[in-house]
Amino acid sequence: MPADAPAPPEERARAVAEGFTRLYGAEPEGVWAAPGRVNLIGEYTDFNDGFVMPLALPHTAVAAVSRRTDGRLRVHSADTGEGVVTLEVAELRPERGGAGGWAAYPAGVVWALREAGHEITGADLHLASTVPTGAGLSSSAALETVVALALNELYGLGRSRPELARIGQRAENAFVGVPCGVMDQMASACAAEGHLLHLDTRNLSLRQVPFDLAARGLALLVVDTRVKHALGDGAYAERRAGCEAGARALGVNTLREVEYARLPEALDRLDDPTVRACVRHVVSDNERVRRTIALLDAGDARAVGPVLTEGHASLRDDLRVSCPELDLVVATAVEAGALGARMTGGGFGGSAIVLVEAGDTAAVTKAVEDAFATAGHTAPRVFPAVPSAGARRLE
Ligand code: ADP
Ligand code: MG
Repeated sequence: MPADAPAPPEERARAVAEGFTRLYGAEPEGVWAAPGRVNLIGEYTDFNDGFVMPLALPHTAVAAVSRRTDGRLRVHSADTGEGVVTLEVAELRPERGGAGGWAAYPAGVVWALREAGHEITGADLHLASTVPTGAGLSSSAALETVVALALNELYGLGRSRPELARIGQRAENAFVGVPCGVMDQMASACAAEGHLLHLDTRNLSLRQVPFDLAARGLALLVVDTRVKHALGDGAYAERRAGCEAGARALGVNTLREVEYARLPEALDRLDDPTVRACVRHVVSDNERVRRTIALLDAGDARAVGPVLTEGHASLRDDLRVSCPELDLVVATAVEAGALGARMTGGGFGGSAIVLVEAGDTAAVTKAVEDAFATAGHTAPRVFPAVPSAGARRLE
């Protein structure tokens, strides 16, 4: 799956439809696309009812789908080298989800739609994605979202985009077994081209914020470190538990309710250093989202850079979810003249984002590549984060 300048989904729709026809012997009823994402700011806040600000990438999962009436679900990915996986819709159970490999994602969406009261009598699905997997760019949410949107339209379920995002999140939480928040699915389902999605995860209210970097002579780069440290899996759940413990100790439902102006008082009331660090990160990152919005509204995109770098320090030092490769990207990029940088997504590998003057793109990219080579790391993958459209029907 190529990472840079992926072919637009509109150009891939025919090939995916033809792949479907070869596999299943009939034309698909339709073809849909859903993108991966990067998050500009607001990390580990979405499971605390907080604020996030992702944008959709031009990298997309494209799926050709038809209904079935016999209760069978057949799924195939062009990207795995595996054959068609066949499942019985009525037999889908969360506890079996994990054992199902990648098919747990589409199967989980079907399960979650049925849990929500919808009759799904089966489907055939063939998929091809340009979202790199396991790079912190939400290939999983792209997959969930494309399946949820396709079934919503084919079965006439009438669910809104935010409702479909909740379905995708439920599939991932309960069926696949990953305790993620709702940001990734919301970005994939609701993003608009040329915009950031300013999202309040408490009620899923959202605002599309214009983000035309090129017009301001700026660029946002994604640096995929190509590493994923095993530590990440348990650590995410641990940080979640730390946030929940903090909310309990402070007598609030979620850390969203802790005002930034009151953060010092709140911290004084917490004894456990790990819980304190979780609270400090979440409350201050919500504030960084607020500051970022204010800066963008004021037309001062350059000043967002230092806010990103500050956010990275908080994720590195307080939440401790970064890793040497991500820290190296941020330190090197800033040293080489970037306006700011930070890890994005869950951390422990995956990707970082770098805000640069457009004219400095080549120099900053080279500095990061050289630093990785010197440190003996695998060469990173660097590409521009072009704010792209959310999920949609192609055919
Ligand atoms: P991320 O969402 O950051 O890319 P995850 O670990 O959450 O990483 O999700 C990656 C998983 O999603 C893969 O291991 C695979 O199970 C599934 N997946 C994503 N894209 C595809 C694809 N094109 N084909 C099959 N499975 C995919
Ligand atoms: Mg994921």
